[in-house]
Amino acid sequence: MSGFTSYMDAALDEARAAAARGEVPVGAVLVAPDGRIVARAGNRTREQNDPTAHAELLAIRAACAATGSERLTGHDLYVTLEPCPMCAAAIGFARIRRLYYGAADPKSGGVAQGARVFSHPQCHHAPEVYDGIGAEASESLLKTFFAQRR
Ligand SMILES: [Zn+2]
Repeated sequence: MSGFTSYMDAALDEARAAAARGEVPVGAVLVAPDGRIVARAGNRTREQNDPTAHAELLAIRAACAATGSERLTGHDLYVTLEPCPMCAAAIGFARIRRLYYGAADPKSGGVAQGARVFSHPQCHHAPEVYDGIGAEASESLLKTFFAQRR
């Protein structure tokens, strides 16, 4: 891809910030069609006592609020971990153009495994999906985080 700029480093920064807050280290950024980052977020489920406060959902909510639209047509989402089925459904509802994610999530992922939300016949919009972007950095963050909690 010529002219491709990865925003995964920004997403990894959000994941590190989440770990520092004691949250599972997952980070996400939403990029507008002109290349601006319109939202960045990390997990906040503990802080907000909200099981839906995943990085992706927080980023989607913030980007929709910023753009004044329930749809993020032409926007790209970078997230450090394979989205869960809940987030994958929201990505489809938001009409996100491309999804770039890092590590695969055999336990809770819903894109390449498990529910495979975007391959489901009820899925009205599937983004282009690119996986394995910055996967090693994302995996090592998660491993370190869970090793410290044991
Ligand atoms: Zn999720």
